[in-house]
Amino acid sequence: MRRLLSSLAFALALTSAAHANDLLEPALSFAPGIGAPRVAVTLDACMGGVDHRILDVLVREHIPATLFVTARWMSGNAETAAILAAHPDLFEIEDHGRNHVPAVIGSEKPYGITPAGTLAAVDDEVLGGGEAILAGFGRQPTWFRGATALYTPDAMDEINKLGYRVAGFSLNADFGASATAKVAQSRIEGAQDGDVIIAHINQPSRPAGEGIAAGLLTLKQNGYIFLRLDQMP
Ligand SMILES: [Zn+2]
Repeated sequence: MRRLLSSLAFALALTSAAHANDLLEPALSFAPGIGAPRVAVTLDACMGGVDHRILDVLVREHIPATLFVTARWMSGNAETAAILAAHPDLFEIEDHGRNHVPAVIGSEKPYGITPAGTLAAVDDEVLGGGEAILAGFGRQPTWFRGATALYTPDAMDEINKLGYRVAGFSLNADFGASATAKVAQSRIEGAQDGDVIIAHINQPSRPAGEGIAAGLLTLKQNGYIFLRLDQMP
């Protein structure tokens, strides 16, 4: 993944990856510092359950992370949401939408998933996720990551108008939880200073989670510092 560095703490490139037609996959990383390498771990909870292989390591090892949750996921995972809420020092909860519908205006289907399609449906997806987080965690999210992390430019503008920043990433650790454990682990272990890592915490039956947990442990043991998106310098 190309890294864009700038004098700003955040480096946000809107056209970092080319996809079919005009879909954008924004990149997000932060400027390398001095001393121990720093990374931000962002974990998506799209739908389904929770991967305790990952969650338990985060809690036990005291590894802070930013979780992108949907209202849909929250409604089926009240017990896990309570664990997250009980550790506000560790977990920053951000908006992954109401129903996990891609923030794409038009008819293009990223990864075959039917998109929001219209401006009003993008609003509903973003605001619906935000309302659920405010109700469940007492906090208004400030970052949004849409399903598939692909966007049309007009949808990105709309998300910004709603008061959110679009959360890209610089290191895709699990390719939508489809990676093998070995691949996910080695990708995380290859994290560089300033990387924003994306992985999934909602797929307990897939092999990727084992590698994600192992990779995060290695980073911790190697002295990495974990930042959340709300703690970036
Ligand atoms: Zn997702």
